[in-house]
Amino acid sequence: MDFDLTREQEMIRREVRRFAMSEIAPVAADLDEKEEFSPQLTRKMGEIGLFGMFVSEAYHGQGLDYLSYIIAVEEIARVDGSQAATVAAGNSLGIGPLYHFGSEEQKKKYLPKLCSGKALWAFGLTEPTAGSDAGGSKTTAVPDGNQWVLNGSKIFITNGACEMSLGVTVQAVTGRRPNGKHEYTCFLVEHGTPGFKAVSMHHKMMWRASNTAQLFFDDVRVPQENMLGKKGDGFHQMLRTLDGGRLSIAAMGLGGAQGAYEAALKYAQERVQFGQPISKFQAVAFKLADCALEIECARNVTYKACWLRDKKRSFEKEAAMAKLYCSEVMGRVVNHAVQIHGGYGLMKEYNVERFYRDHKLLEIGEGTSEVQRIVISRYIGC
Ligand SMILES: Cc1cc2nc3c(=O)[nH]c(=O)nc-3n(C[C@H](O)[C@H](O)[C@H](O)COP(=O)(O)OP(=O)(O)OC[C@H]3O[C@@H](n4cnc5c(N)ncnc54)[C@H](O)[C@@H]3O)c2cc1C
Repeated sequence: MDFDLTREQEMIRREVRRFAMSEIAPVAADLDEKEEFSPQLTRKMGEIGLFGMFVSEAYHGQGLDYLSYIIAVEEIARVDGSQAATVAAGNSLGIGPLYHFGSEEQKKKYLPKLCSGKALWAFGLTEPTAGSDAGGSKTTAVPDGNQWVLNGSKIFITNGACEMSLGVTVQAVTGRRPNGKHEYTCFLVEHGTPGFKAVSMHHKMMWRASNTAQLFFDDVRVPQENMLGKKGDGFHQMLRTLDGGRLSIAAMGLGGAQGAYEAALKYAQERVQFGQPISKFQAVAFKLADCALEIECARNVTYKACWLRDKKRSFEKEAAMAKLYCSEVMGRVVNHAVQIHGGYGLMKEYNVERFYRDHKLLEIGEGTSEVQRIVISRYIGC
């Protein structure tokens, strides 16, 4: 076994960490407070190559392995969940389906722009009445000559309604399968298409500086060439996309846990009560020891799943495990981190307060913890 990262992966970690500390850390609390998505910061993340890392150079990506990308997400999340969400959704959910299932024309048309970080593509699966039960979505696409007419709506769509949003991959019902279940097909819908409306959602508890949208499709017409892959492949494409997306949520849990742990350790070494740093009290030290242990396990399970994926071996069970474990580890770590900060941990001037809020999405988005347990239990034969 070789647990060493390559020189390139080490360099990516160093560079992304430097960028996150110099460009994101100074503005993260303010953007969170104002609930403001920053196009400037997103473009800067594009300039240092955070979009399209796993996309081949033929489409202006960087042709790196998946682990390199996951390390980058981890490092951004170590500093801020919102910016990590923009990157993770932009890559895994936005670029991913286009890259893996798109036609040559679709890839050439969209990927160079998306890989530059000058525009964002969104993933439109969740609907108001279909979340965990993604096979219950109701948005329809009906053929009309050489076009498809879409009607319906999507909710909670990351990167769906900001000034950089270029379009969205939409799962729509296109018929019935022989077993009576809905047949789903995915379509690419660009902003500006008549009948397509995108509205930002506000008053979020977490990821407040990331863009979340409600999308409405009212007789939206798209040409046949906007179909992603084959008719009837939509549900499979969405599930495959989520397998990869789970690894980036795992990376966000891992990075967020690391950031909160480091803040708590530093605080514990500096805060003096009863004449000594609180890190010297066993009750505090054991919390920090548990955090260090769980973060180590979280990193191993996540990197192993990436390693499987990079080796083109099956990684779906491990991705679900990594997503479930890392998001719950971050929950335990942020809880300890706030506790160790005492009353100050509840104040916005300390970052652990933001980490505490941001973590909750990780147990809900891209398949809740309950759904991950269902996925894993199926893989182990239950
Ligand atoms: C900030 C944010 C960003 C998001 N970004 C995107 C995006 O970019 N694209 C997208 O398509 N979606 C996105 N989502 C949607 C997200 O994936 C869903 O919220 C999630 O899948 C859960 O669906 P739901 O909210 O409808 O909850 P529900 O499915 O209604 O679940 C409610 C509760 O019931 C439980 N439950 C449901 N079914 C079962 C079951 N069979 N067994 C046990 N428990 C069950 C769930 O675990 C949960 O605890 C985002 C959500 C948020 C909040």
